[in-house]
Amino acid sequence: MSQVLGSDFSQTFQIEGLDVRGRLVRLGPELAKVIDAHGYPDSVSEMLAETLTLGAVLASALKYDGLFTLQIQSDGPISLLVADVTSAGAVRGYARFDAERLEQAAARESAPVPRLLGAGHLAFTVDQGPDMERYQGIAALDGATLAECAHHYFRHSEQLETAIFIAARVTGGDIRAGALMVQRMPHQHVPDEAEAEDGWRRTVAILASLKAAELLDFNLTPDQLLYRLYHEDGVRAFAPQPLVHQCRCSQGKVANTLKSFPRAEVVGDDGCARVVCEFCKAHYDFSPVQLDALYGGTE
Ligand SMILES: [Zn+2]
Repeated sequence: MSQVLGSDFSQTFQIEGLDVRGRLVRLGPELAKVIDAHGYPDSVSEMLAETLTLGAVLASALKYDGLFTLQIQSDGPISLLVADVTSAGAVRGYARFDAERLEQAAARESAPVPRLLGAGHLAFTVDQGPDMERYQGIAALDGATLAECAHHYFRHSEQLETAIFIAARVTGGDIRAGALMVQRMPHQHVPDEAEAEDGWRRTVAILASLKAAELLDFNLTPDQLLYRLYHEDGVRAFAPQPLVHQCRCSQGKVANTLKSFPRAEVVGDDGCARVVCEFCKAHYDFSPVQLDALYGGTE
């Protein structure tokens, strides 16, 4: 078995005796499938890895049946980052960037978000189908890292107090990422306010002591990692949910999208339409005969 231990899952845990709920996400081989399919420069791959990991950890804290999407739009060298996470654990993502501006930015010494993304916002939506209301959250890209931007979101929305740590590595063929998120839940176990505040502070301080190398060391099992961090209060981990790279594109879905545009806008000089899925790079070609069928006759 060559599979790396403890990769590609999200896992919920409870810190015993405190009103704190946590989520641990690790992505390895499945993340590598996303990154390898795109062949982006390392700085873009790393931001995409962080975005996917942040998406997975945020999604794991939500009760939903459908699709969670985290989208980061900005005016910097990387203008778009998208991460999709279905409630079944399928992840996919892609980025858009300007190679020239990216090269210029590489020379600058500043934190990743201001340098690579610039000004913009982070938004997420939860789509549970046509009969359900879409849930949406949005926040300015205010922070040095994506984790800080997420903190900003939680601070400025009526959400639970939250702390997140994210780490990603994409170089040298070694692709992996992880996120640990803790959230302060409403009073349940700790009746005393000062004690609850104390417990929460301790939880956040321990999270801040976590090293990227520890989170990304997949030989350290989730149980070992969580025990190492939170053994003093006691920690209970629930069954992990596997995460897999899977795109939801298909010839049929692409055909539906094509149909919403005039035929003249989608065909090339040879009368064929060629579509490449931005998420997985799958190619979908439509011949003139197929397009006839799609558009209901020749035009
Ligand atoms: Zn696809």
